[in-house]
Amino acid sequence: MTKKILILPGDGIGPEITAEAARVLGALGLGFEMETALLGGAAVDATGEPYPEATQKLAAEADAVLLGAVGGPKWDTLPREKRPERGLLSIRKHLNLFANLRPAILYPELANASTLKPEIVSGLDILIVRELTGDIYFGQPLGIRERRGERFGFNTMRYTDTEIRRIGRVAFEAARKRNKKLCSVDKMNVLETTQLWRDVMNELAPEYPDVTLSHMLVDNAAMQLVRAPRQFDVLVTGNMFGDILSDEASMLTGSIGMLPSASLDENDKGLYEPSHGSAPDIAGQDVANPLATILSAAMLLRYTFNEEEAARRVEDAVEKVLAQGFRTGDIFEAGMTKVGTRQMGEAVLAALG
Ligand code: NAD
Repeated sequence: MTKKILILPGDGIGPEITAEAARVLGALGLGFEMETALLGGAAVDATGEPYPEATQKLAAEADAVLLGAVGGPKWDTLPREKRPERGLLSIRKHLNLFANLRPAILYPELANASTLKPEIVSGLDILIVRELTGDIYFGQPLGIRERRGERFGFNTMRYTDTEIRRIGRVAFEAARKRNKKLCSVDKMNVLETTQLWRDVMNELAPEYPDVTLSHMLVDNAAMQLVRAPRQFDVLVTGNMFGDILSDEASMLTGSIGMLPSASLDENDKGLYEPSHGSAPDIAGQDVANPLATILSAAMLLRYTFNEEEAARRVEDAVEKVLAQGFRTGDIFEAGMTKVGTRQMGEAVLAALG
């Protein structure tokens, strides 16, 4: 069976960071077939469309997609449907990616980068599983209307038990691959939709007797994430709560250049990308941190190809280069060795052993 990976470098620092991640994937000797295509501003420039047909075809055929980032000031004045960000939304929709996985890991070597005290966050390793295609962001009806001279806005929070069950399964499975603790976040004390969320999570629990399920209200979860974040292993929640909590969790680590993410469909086909943007301010200078993209490649190995050993190999190599003192500008501290994008990639390749 061929294992096809589509690489979408995108814009800004995208080509530089995906090149390093592709080198790492290629070095593992797993026989990946890798192809590159256009997305975002680069695609607009070449074809007039942010998600051109040729890319759509390759994305549909691939087992996994590795993306850099899209966007930049050059395209900000285009009509909304021609903007690079539309390419990203379109590919997510096209591939039915309903599960977003965002780990927040703080390597002990980078504990000073966090705004929280090192003793609170050092060794942090949590995973947020966010539902991506439902909830109040997509529920109908929605709109802004006027009645008796007063404008009112409304959205609908809505989940079916099928939608909750499928994201629940992703979260239970992910917890199984980690420390087997799952915390489901809701607001069941005031929102019926999330009462259903809690009920369905409880219904799923007996199928995963090896995973301990707990529940937490979202306001408490937001507080606990900054008070004692290491109590968590995997968190699962809906689209809106997940949007907010995953950003909060990522900032616990303080270094955006280190954070990978995965978005999966029902068959574990996935789109893997760093959590940061295209950083146009440093594009083309060989200074961007490629580690978030390399760690996204590790997630690709784990979640799409079930190559746990290879995923660990890549993650261990990243840890090793940090321990060796290699730092790109964004995570640099006095006494460390400052390296560029390419050199960081080379250090990871060397550390793969
Ligand atoms: P950004 O994440 O691109 O940059 C924020 C800051 O972090 C910048 O100072 C940048 O230099 C730095 N940074 C980001 N990634 C880095 C890395 N790997 N190494 C070193 N430093 C890094 O966010 P922004 O400036 O708000 O957005 C820039 C563009 O990216 C915009 O066009 C935006 O729409 C787009 N964007 C794309 C995505 C995506 O493709 N998923 C996500 C967010 C923003």
